[in-house]
Amino acid sequence: MPSYPPEPFRIKVTEPIRLIPPEERRTALLAAGYNVFAIRAEDIFIDLLTDSGTGAMSDRQWAAIMQGDESYAGARSYFRLAEAVKGIFGFERFVPTHQGRAAENILSAVLVRPGQYVPSNMHFDTTDANIRARGGRPANLVIDEASDPQDRHPFKGNMDTAKLKAFIGKVGVENVPLGMITVTNNAGGGQPVALENIKAVAETYHSFGIPFYIDAARYAENAYFIKLREPGYADKSTLEIAREMFALADGFCFSAKKDAIVNIGGLLATRDEKIFQAIKNELILREGFPTYGGLAGRDLEAMAVGLYEGLDETYLAYRLDQTAYLGERIREAGLQIVEPPGGHAIYIDAGALLPHIPHGEFPGQSLAVELYLEGGIRGCEIGSVMFAHADPETGGMVYPKLELVRLAIPRRMYTQSHMDYVAETLGKIARRAGSLRGYKFTYAPEALRHFTAKFAPL
Ligand SMILES: *Cc1c(COP(=O)(O)O)cnc(C)c1O
Repeated sequence: MPSYPPEPFRIKVTEPIRLIPPEERRTALLAAGYNVFAIRAEDIFIDLLTDSGTGAMSDRQWAAIMQGDESYAGARSYFRLAEAVKGIFGFERFVPTHQGRAAENILSAVLVRPGQYVPSNMHFDTTDANIRARGGRPANLVIDEASDPQDRHPFKGNMDTAKLKAFIGKVGVENVPLGMITVTNNAGGGQPVALENIKAVAETYHSFGIPFYIDAARYAENAYFIKLREPGYADKSTLEIAREMFALADGFCFSAKKDAIVNIGGLLATRDEKIFQAIKNELILREGFPTYGGLAGRDLEAMAVGLYEGLDETYLAYRLDQTAYLGERIREAGLQIVEPPGGHAIYIDAGALLPHIPHGEFPGQSLAVELYLEGGIRGCEIGSVMFAHADPETGGMVYPKLELVRLAIPRRMYTQSHMDYVAETLGKIARRAGSLRGYKFTYAPEALRHFTAKFAPL
C-alpha cells in the first residue's frame, strides 16, 4: 500500500459529517434531478465536489479575521493584503474581488470585444464562460500529451507554443486582446506548467505585443511542482519560483479560494495603468470600492495570511502527497485516472470505465451519480455535461476529448481514512461498471450548465 503523509497540523475544531442511509441518498438524488450540485451538503458524507473555498483555515487566519478593518475605503486590512500581493506576485496595481470569476468578468469586460480570441493552455469553465459572455472566443492550446490520460509528461499543463504562434497568425494579432495560461491546468487534470514554458509563452505573446495574463488559482501548487520536477529549481523556494513566474506576466486573475486557503476571495492585477483605471471603474460598478472589492475587511486579512500559508513547503509536500496517495489507491481499485496525479484533485477516466456509454449520454455524470448512491461521495463531472457545445460556425456538437469525474481534495480537511473510504467505494463501483447507465438532460441552461442542469437516467 502507498504511504500516506502525516498531516503537518493537528485538529483543533471539528465538524460532524454523516452517511445517510441508501434509500435517503436515492431520495435526495431524485429531488436534485440527478445533479449532485443540487444535493444538500448535509446529505453528503465526503464532499469532493471542489477544493474551492472548502479548505480549513488555520488558527492564524481565524486570529487575523478578528483584526479585520471594516472601513469602507482605505482599510488597514487592504494594506496588509497589498503587502502580501506585492511580496509574492510583485504587483502594485491590484483589486480584491469576491472570487475568481468576478476577476474574470471584469478582465473580460475591460479587454474582450465580440469576435476576439483569447488563447490559453486550457480555460477553466468560468473563464471560458466569461470570455464567451462578452462575445469572445476562448481557445485551448495545451500540448498534445494533455489529451492522453496515460501520458506521464511531468508538465502536462504546458502550452504548445508552435500551436500558439500558428493560432495568432491565423486569427490575426489584432483579434487577440490578451493571452492567458492557467496554472495549474485545472480543466486538464490539475497538471502543472513548467517555468520554461511560462517563459516561452510570455515571449510569444510579447513578440506579438499581446498582454499576458495568468489564471493563477493554483500558482503555489504549480510552484512546488516546478521545484520538484524542473531542472534548476530544487534549491529555490516556492516563493522565489512564484516571483519568477509572475515577473513574466502583465497581469493575473486569481481565485483565493484555492491556494490562498480562504472560503471566499479573489484578486485581479495588472501592470498597465490605463487598464487598471478601467478595472477599478468596472469593479466599483459590480463588486465594490477598490480597497475591498466585494469582500469584508476580515476576508482581506484571512487572504493575506493564507497567501503565505499556501506557499509553505511542508504544507505543499503534504498536499501533493495526499493527492498522489488517493490516486494510487484508486488505481489499485482498478480504475484509470489522469496520469500523473495533479495537485488538487484526482480525475477519474469515466470514459475508460464506462466505454458502453457514449459522450452524448454523459459517462462522467453516470459515475458521479453512482459515487453518491454507493458511498455518499460527491465528485464533479468534467466532461460533456460541462464542455460539449454546438460549434458556432457549423452548429454540430463538439465533445471534449475526455470524460472525467474530478475528486477535488479540500485543503487541510480530510484524513487518510476518508481517502481510503473513497478508493474502496470506487472499487465497488468498478466491479459492476457494466451495469451503469447513461443520462439525458431534462433541463439545461445556455452557459455553465453543469451547475443547474437536471437529468433523467436512460
Ligand atoms: C476556481 C477557478 C476559477 C474561478 O474562481 P472562483 O473563485 O470559483 O470564481 C478560475 N480559474 C481556475 C483555474 C479555477 O480553478
